[in-house]
Amino acid sequence: MASDTPTVFDAIVVGSGISGGFAAKELTERGLKVLLLERGRNVTHREDYITEGKANWQLPYYGQVPEPTLERDYHIQKDCYAFSDFTKHFFVNDRENPYTTPDDKPFPWIRGYHLGGRSLTWHRQSYRLSEIDFEANKLDGHGIDWPIRYADIAPWYDRVEEFAGISGSFEDLPQLPDGKFQKPFPMNCVEQDIKARIDGAMPDLTLIMGRTAHITEPTQEQVSLGRTRCMNRSECQRGCSFGAYFSSLSATLPAAERTGNLTTVTDAIVEAVDYDDDTARATGVRIVDAVSKERRRYRGKLVFLCASTLGTTQIMLNSRSETFTNGIANSSGVLGHYLMDHLGGIQVRGVFAGHEDKYDSGRRATGIYIPRFRNVSEKDERFLRGFGFQGAAYRASWQRGAWTEGIGANFKKQLQQPGPWEFGMGGFGEMMPDERNHVRLHETQKDEWGIPLLHIDCEHGENDKAVLKAIAEDGRAILEAAGLDNVMVSEDITPPGLLIHEMGTARMGHDPATSVLNKYNQAHDVVNLFVTDGACMTSSACQNPSLTYMAITARAAHAAADMLAEGTL
Ligand SMILES: Cc1cc2nc3c(=O)[nH]c(=O)nc-3n(C[C@H](O)[C@H](O)[C@H](O)COP(=O)(O)OP(=O)(O)OC[C@H]3O[C@@H](n4cnc5c(N)ncnc54)[C@H](O)[C@@H]3O)c2cc1C
Ligand code: SF4
Repeated sequence: MASDTPTVFDAIVVGSGISGGFAAKELTERGLKVLLLERGRNVTHREDYITEGKANWQLPYYGQVPEPTLERDYHIQKDCYAFSDFTKHFFVNDRENPYTTPDDKPFPWIRGYHLGGRSLTWHRQSYRLSEIDFEANKLDGHGIDWPIRYADIAPWYDRVEEFAGISGSFEDLPQLPDGKFQKPFPMNCVEQDIKARIDGAMPDLTLIMGRTAHITEPTQEQVSLGRTRCMNRSECQRGCSFGAYFSSLSATLPAAERTGNLTTVTDAIVEAVDYDDDTARATGVRIVDAVSKERRRYRGKLVFLCASTLGTTQIMLNSRSETFTNGIANSSGVLGHYLMDHLGGIQVRGVFAGHEDKYDSGRRATGIYIPRFRNVSEKDERFLRGFGFQGAAYRASWQRGAWTEGIGANFKKQLQQPGPWEFGMGGFGEMMPDERNHVRLHETQKDEWGIPLLHIDCEHGENDKAVLKAIAEDGRAILEAAGLDNVMVSEDITPPGLLIHEMGTARMGHDPATSVLNKYNQAHDVVNLFVTDGACMTSSACQNPSLTYMAITARAAHAAADMLAEGTL
């Protein structure tokens, strides 16, 4: 039995990552008393960035995690490029947090259970979706129509960009709208040359500087939150005491706290949303204390689920009542279906002749971006939708230094030889929504807190495979057009999950028969339940999605606060 806590909060926000942080900020700033529930431990900004500023030799295994620990505790998280001894405390322990998949359909679920969630470890690439993306489902008939268009969300992109601090260049591209940018990071000399060559040889395509959630020109608001300009150390995933990259800990949670309206409870695993069959409303949530395993109930007038796409879906599927026998707000039966990630894994690289006199590329917070160029102005017969590339030019010797064999003076000498420049990039493609790609609760297996495990069943479809093939073909063509030598393509396609952009399992739509959420992320079936993380996505586009989660969350929070004030909730 769960014990009741007496307070009725105006809103309960579940999850403190990128979406939950924004929900907490916007709702508290509107004057609502908000309870933020986070399943993981507390992390204190600055104090708990325990590897920040450390060199490899200051860690016991030089930054590596030893094999026995790796295989026992991190057999899934280790596949994430950002996982190391410097960051492992911001990744879940796979042994303690299991889930299942069919044997032939791996889905690496990369997670961080702690205050701030994956806002601490994300790569900060921040791109708007465009009208092309919001119209795509309707125009080609795959998936259902988005209930919003670019114009609905554009002012909210403005709002979250100004607050978060996004650096980027103005390009005036229909497929990648510009935003409220701070000054971009510079390209290095090789990237500038490659840009000039590509712009000349392939007019449909342009190479721009990555847009990233790093402060380059701090605003007064950012300074007031204790944030400052990025120092280009490029150690961000350990946490940043300058608060120079956007995270819940550096930005949204301090903003919410200073309103005096926020109560945060960590180690609180939400297992279900409580629903009253008589009033047809959510009344709050049930939690299990991660440490004591005691069960408690919290009550709220609004519930915002922001526990990440799959975390939220697990909670919803586990919220069963007389009305909703297969998960709250699931009268359509689509909850858990249409799971998407981005398509990727394919890397292309080549050697750049020239600039040998320039020694080092230096550290930087971001590389370059090639926005989508297929199916923008002309139809590509090979596939529907599109893909972009992210990459950088770097000194081959610098990149490979750690893997160069040798020891002592000769070894040092080898590393001092500049050697040629290389340029490499990886594709990010749009994955189609497909009903068969789904998650459900495991029939029998539960975790150590008594919550049914998630079963994830997801694979690439035919269009996805065609996009991946095109990424490899076009990636090679771009590098050859840029005049690179020894162009190599690694066709090491990653399974869904590993791009860490999972989304779509409680999608937005016009029709309650085919979607879970309306245009304000409000459940069609339960008026005071909102879902604003990636679960709400009706299609995936090919841009990194978190900026869109921020904008959608801010929009939904204000809509909910308005409805509450007007008495329509
Ligand atoms: C290495 C890496 C690089 C990435 N790079 C980029 C990038 O460049 N650009 C980009 O757009 N995205 C990137 N992402 C993805 C990005 O991190 C996610 O899209 C984003 O964090 C999702 O935000 P969220 O709030 O939905 O989930 P999260 O940030 O994961 O936060 C969810 C929170 O909910 C908590 N939670 C989960 N279940 C429960 C429960 N039952 N009860 C209570 N709390 C719960 C979790 O502990 C967590 O704190 C990257 C991710 C990683 C790991
Ligand atoms: S690169 Fe910038 S954001 Fe990243 S750790 Fe350094 S100062 Fe912080």
